[in-house]
Formats: sequence, C-alpha cells, structure tokens
Amino acid sequence: MKSCSFTLIFNMKIPFIAARIQHMRTNFFLFILLLSGLSACKIIKNPSTPIEKIILEDVVVTPSSKKVILSYKPMETRVVDLVHTKLFLSFDYLHQWVNGTAVLSLTPYAYALSQVKLDAHGFTLLRVAQLKGRDTLTLSYDYDSLKLNVSLASDLLLKDTLQLLIQYIAKPNEIKTGTGKAISDARGLYFINPLGTDPNKPRQIWSQGETEYNSGWFPTVDAPNEKHTQDIYLTVEEKETTLSNGLLKDTKHNLNGTKTDHWQQLKPHAPYLTMIAIGNFIVTKDTWRNKEVSYYLEPAYAPYARTIFGKTPQMIETFSKITGVDYPWDKFSQVVARDFVSGAMENTSAVLHYEMVQHTDREHLDNPHEDIIVHELFHHWFGDLVTCRSWSNLPLNESFATYGEYLYNEYTYGKDYADMVFAKNLEAYLRSKNKYQESPIRNYYAEADDVFDVVSYQKGSWILHQLRNEVGDSAFFKGINRYLTQNAYGTTDIHNLRQAMEWASGKDLQVFFTQWFLGKGHPELQIALKRNTEKNRYELEVKQVQDSSFGLFTINTELAYVSLHADGTSKVKTIPITIQQATETIVLPPIGHELILSYWIDPKGNIPGVIVETKDPNSWMFQAGLATGYQAKQRAIKAISNLPYEKDSSIQLKLITQLLSSSLYYDQLTALDLIEKLDTFYAHFEPQIIDMALHNKVVEVRDNSMYLIGYKGKGELAKSILLQGLKDSSYEVMATSLQSLSITDETLCLQKCIGLESIQTATLQRTISWLYASHAKDNKNAYYKSVLGKFGMYRNSILNAYFTYLRNQNKAVLEEALPILENYYTLSSDRDKAKTFRSFLKTLQAKSKETEFFESVTFKAFKEKVQTDYAN
Ligand SMILES: [Zn+2]
Repeated sequence: MKSCSFTLIFNMKIPFIAARIQHMRTNFFLFILLLSGLSACKIIKNPSTPIEKIILEDVVVTPSSKKVILSYKPMETRVVDLVHTKLFLSFDYLHQWVNGTAVLSLTPYAYALSQVKLDAHGFTLLRVAQLKGRDTLTLSYDYDSLKLNVSLASDLLLKDTLQLLIQYIAKPNEIKTGTGKAISDARGLYFINPLGTDPNKPRQIWSQGETEYNSGWFPTVDAPNEKHTQDIYLTVEEKETTLSNGLLKDTKHNLNGTKTDHWQQLKPHAPYLTMIAIGNFIVTKDTWRNKEVSYYLEPAYAPYARTIFGKTPQMIETFSKITGVDYPWDKFSQVVARDFVSGAMENTSAVLHYEMVQHTDREHLDNPHEDIIVHELFHHWFGDLVTCRSWSNLPLNESFATYGEYLYNEYTYGKDYADMVFAKNLEAYLRSKNKYQESPIRNYYAEADDVFDVVSYQKGSWILHQLRNEVGDSAFFKGINRYLTQNAYGTTDIHNLRQAMEWASGKDLQVFFTQWFLGKGHPELQIALKRNTEKNRYELEVKQVQDSSFGLFTINTELAYVSLHADGTSKVKTIPITIQQATETIVLPPIGHELILSYWIDPKGNIPGVIVETKDPNSWMFQAGLATGYQAKQRAIKAISNLPYEKDSSIQLKLITQLLSSSLYYDQLTALDLIEKLDTFYAHFEPQIIDMALHNKVVEVRDNSMYLIGYKGKGELAKSILLQGLKDSSYEVMATSLQSLSITDETLCLQKCIGLESIQTATLQRTISWLYASHAKDNKNAYYKSVLGKFGMYRNSILNAYFTYLRNQNKAVLEEALPILENYYTLSSDRDKAKTFRSFLKTLQAKSKETEFFESVTFKAFKEKVQTDYAN
C-alpha cells in the first residue's frame, strides 16, 4: 500500500511552507494544511517534472488516560489451508450488497478437523454446504457476523480436500466493530456513487483488502500467511468493464443485458491481495515480454494513458533485472478509482490507484506520480510473491516497496537524484518523534493498521540502504535474489531476510538486524576532529548521544577527509571506520606535515540517524564543495546557512553563487531556499532568479523562483514577471504566480483569477477558490457553485474555501449560498459528507457575524439534517 489511510496528498513548495504561512496575510495555506487535522510531511520529487509532493503523515493521536497494555501479536495459527477460491458475484447497487456464491477448496493444515472456521464480515448467509461429486450436503454452522464456524459431517483428514459451498449476501456498508460501530474505511468493498445521483463521479465498485478486509465481500481465511489461487466470475452490466487478478479467461453474454467475466489466477497469493474493480473504464494495452501490461482509466483520461503509465513496461524490466527474478505474475494492470481509501494498493497483477494519478498531459508536467507506480510494482516481488507472514513483519513488504523507489531512481536517473529524493524519507522519519519508540518489526500493536507508518516505510527503506552498505552491492543483490527465490509464493519473517543476506555475504548479521529491525530509535552522532600535536596525528572523536533507551549502535561506515599537501594541493581520502562505543576515538593514518582542512563521516549517506559535525566555516565550505554524497553536502549547506550571516555573509554569498551555477537543479533549489532564508541576498541575485523563473527547464525551479519574486520582489518588475508566470506551461507555476501576485497587487490578482476560472484543472481552481476566500469582496457564489464537487480529492479543500469565504459575507450572500450548499450536499456521494459539512457548518456559524442568518428556519433545518445524517 502506498501511504496509509490517514494521509492527504497535495502539491506545495516544501522549503517555503513555514515562510509562506508567516508571510501570507491570511491563513490561506494553513487552512489547507489543517484540512484534515494533519501535520508533518513526506516529500517526494519527481525527475522529469520535479514538483514536490507532500504526503501528510499520521494524525498524532493523543493517548487516552487509560494505559493500554498491548498483547503479543503472533502469526495467525495455520489450521485450515485455503487452496482455491471460486467466486460467483453479482451486485445490488440499490442496497450496496454483493450476491455471492463461494466454493472454497480447503485442506487441514497440520491436524484432522471436525470444524472449519472462516472470516466472513457482515454477511447474510443463505446456505452452507459440502460439495461431494454431484451431491450437495447441507452443513450446520455458527455465525457471529465476523467468524463462520462450519461443523463438518465427518472429520476432514490430512489427505482430504473439502469443497465448501457458501451462498451469501455481503453487506460491506453494514459491517460493525465489536462495539457495534460502523466502520467506514474497513469495508473491503466500496460502492461509489451507486445510484448515479452524483454528477461529479462515475459509478464504480472496487475492493481494498489490506489488512484483513476482503472478508467483507467473500468468505476466506483473512490472514497474510494464507495463500490461495482463484477463479472469480463477475456478473455485471454489458456496458461495465471489470478487472481482477490474473487473466480474463472468457466473457459470457447473458440474455438479460448482463455479462459474466471469468478471471483466473492459478499462482497462489494472499487473500488480502485479491481484488475486483468495476466501472466505465477504457483499457489501453502495452506488453512486457509478451505479458499484458494494461491501464484502466475513465474515458476522459484514456487519451493520456501512456503519458501516465507508459513507462510501466520499462519499470517491470528494471525490477526484473535488479532482483534477478523476472516479473512472476500473469499480467500487470493498473486501474484508477474514485474515492480510494489510500494512495494505491498492490493487488496482485491489478494495482488500484487513487484518483490523483489520473491526469492530463499538461497536469503530468507538475506531478507524474512515477513513485507511486514504482512502489506498487516493486510490491509484486516484495509483498505479493514473498509476503510478510504477519503484520508485525510489515517492513518485509513496505520497507522494500519504499526502497524500490530509490532503486528505480538510482537505476534510471542516477545516484545523485535518487539520493536527493531519498533524503526526504529520513527527514520524514526524524520529524515523527512520536515514532522513535516503535521498532520496525513490531510484535506489539493495537490495530494492524497502526504499523503502516513512517517506521515501516521511510525508516525501513533507510535500514535497507544501510544494510546494502554493510554487505556491499554484490552481496546485497545476491541476498535479495536468494530471499525471493527461496521464498517465492510463500511467507517470511525478518529472519528469512537475515539468513539470505548472511548466506550472500558470509557475515553474521545478528547485531545489524537486532539493532535496526528489532530495536528502536536511531543513532545521534556528535563528531569532532582534533589534532593531537604531541603525537603529531589527527584523532576523530565520535560520541553516541541518543536517548539511552535505544542503546548503543554498531555502525560500519567511512570517514572522508581533505588533506592539504606541502605543494598546496588538496585531496579527499576515505577510510573505513567502525563506531561502537559511547565515545570512540579513531586515530587517522599518519599524514606527516599535511593539514586536514575538512572531514565528514558517512560520505555515501547511508546512516539512518543524525550526524552532527563540529567545524569552522571554511571547513564547512570544503565539505559543501567536495562532498559527493547528498547527505554530507546538505549537512554542510545547512551549517553554512545557519552561520550568523552579518559576520560570515561572504561565505554564504560564495555558497549561493556556487549552488546557482551547479548543473544539478536541486542545488539551484537549495540556493533559492537559502536566499529566502537569508533575507538580504534577494536583491543581489534578483536577475538570476528572474531568469530561472522564466527560462529554467525544471518546473520546480521556475515555481520556487516565482514564489520568491512574489514575496521578495518589488514594484512593476516583480509584477511583470508574475504576469508572465501566468502563461507558464505548468499549472503549478501559474498557481504560484497567482498567489504571489496577491501579495504584489491584490486587485490585479483578483482580475486574473476571473480569467482563469474556465481552466478546469485542480491545482488552479483550488488556488483560486482560496484566493477568493481570502481576498474577494464581491459575490462569488456563482463561481463556487461551478467548482463544488469537482477536482477529485481537492473537492473538500475547495468546499472548505467556500465556507471560509462565506464567513466574511453578509446575510444576502449567505442566503443565496444556502441552496447551493444544500444541493451539493444532497447530490454528493462522498462517504464522509455529513462529517465534513457538520464540521464546516460549525466553524462558519462560529466565525460569521451574521447571527440572524443562523437563526433562520432554513439554515436550522439544513444543519439538523446534516446532524441527523452524521449521527447515523
Ligand atoms: Zn506499499
């Protein structure tokens, strides 16, 4: 899965967020940030169109006063082996039910059985029977709406296979927790706009099995250590398109205007990876080595299928080469669905993406979503082919899928770019202080969903990176191949990975796996280089100053140092070092009369932790100029930018000049960031910034330059550049220019907004909706009416902007807005619409001065309706 269910994704220029919030006269962006009560973020940049994407992380949940004692979460005990699942499904849109017949082939796992227990959430059971040749033997059962316990007519022996028939109606919307609460994000199967009332959404059905939710639509053994094969027969309307795992074997056209698609997958996979999707999709087909690679998109986006997904065959080839294991499944399809609960899901050979992946050629310039495609694809080796046997071992799925993004970037775009993107993973982990106490392999947790976090994803990917450094590239990839081939179609825990890596490297990796995968926290290293004049040598002092509860880390890394020779030349040397003690003194090789000008550890950037080096400004400059690894270079840049700049401004000026002339675009981004931070440099570099804003090839550089011009530039010159920004090919740059213009010339900005209202793209309309919310004085009801409900996942942001706009409006505008809101509310098919409206109405009423309006009968009736819907 890509990004957990508590995430929200949108584009923004990261280095400037804090500054933007300070600078803006209104809390424009704060609203967007707080939209879902989220904080902190993960950034991913994309190479061809490098706009940063922020994935907001987990909501920080304040623990209740009662201390919850978590119990050990074992692997699910194997009692019965689900060998094969055959499903015959049709769909009742009116009730949002599934009419199902399942035939399960089951054998005892280790012992003979008199009963078979299955997961089946919220079913109405019609019949449970055993199939014996042509005979059907009805069986008795107990059912408590979660577990189905079937009593067998005779004991099932180890050699026997039971064919169990279950006829049922699944009611995924009616699944309740143990306490009787309806679960909106754990249905397993979702009906989108089932009655077709919502004008902004197509009608769709799709499933989401991870973690244990597929038992909401078919009876199964819902555990990651189960593996089954499957035949799925989907009866749908003739006009609908279906997708499932494996191959479409045939389509039978029925007499009543329906058809039955038969999907078959004969390679075993875990039940949580079983999927179906149904909707009006246009299928675009490519191939990889004669296997189908296909893209299922809504008709409006079908023309852009190859823009969005066209690199997929090449990605499959890349991962087949990197792992040494050819893509193992029958085909590889990707479908984009509405209102998905997460970013994307790696259902075997049928990945389901959230709707932001669906975009036009021009929108592609701003965010191609390549990382998400790569992440889900790499799961087809790590997760689908070899599956973590319990959710405690989730890093075997998610750390690898996240590291797959690094491997693909490194292979495709080179190490510099890959390192730059990868740095954001470590930053995301280090920002999440509430997660320091969690170990990646987590045997104790409250809910399985809790382990889908920054530790399993981002930190875990860095641990793999450090493991690669520990054993070397050759052994690392040999170990990966061993792990995949030895455990293909099976399940593993973390020790299987350790053993494969030990086999490949010949090294004992117990200490490494214990401290990194089973342990908590991370090292914090304080480092200083001292000249011991008595002994005429240099000594590196390393202190481990992390929280003592994390223990001491053993780290094999390198030290790079710059030595100045007698002839005036300098040279970077690298030596291996091991850090083990609380305070470690490492003696450098004798260097005679040479001087060491600078030094840094971990030059390749592998350590998942914090490194603090002490040195003087010149030494930092050497590091910034000579370090080849992204991490070491960024440490130096950060240190220089933090120097008191009245005193050392020449060094900072030199650094910015150096960065701006770099051929790497992210050096230019860093320079812009520094100019923004070190206030007085803007004027000095303005010509270069303007040139970058207008002519740089990289969207993100143009975008951040336009931002800077808006906030630091003055007068007619700044205004004229921003107006040119409104004609940029990138919508992001246009949106940023528009925001920047609101600072420079509010009236002109509002005029320009009107001209841009007709461009139907999410980035621009979200920006305009918020600019109106903050600046518009006239009646904008017609505008908001025209954009409400549109632009996919941005729709709630736009709705929030409307409510924010209304806070400052008079009674007449509010009265005109009410039917618009009511109409939108009635037609919307959003799962959480009552919750969203309830919260927005509350704030509107609290912040508006028009108290009389809120006393009106019509407003009260609307509020009551929302309240009643919410309560239900
Ligand atoms: Zn994932």
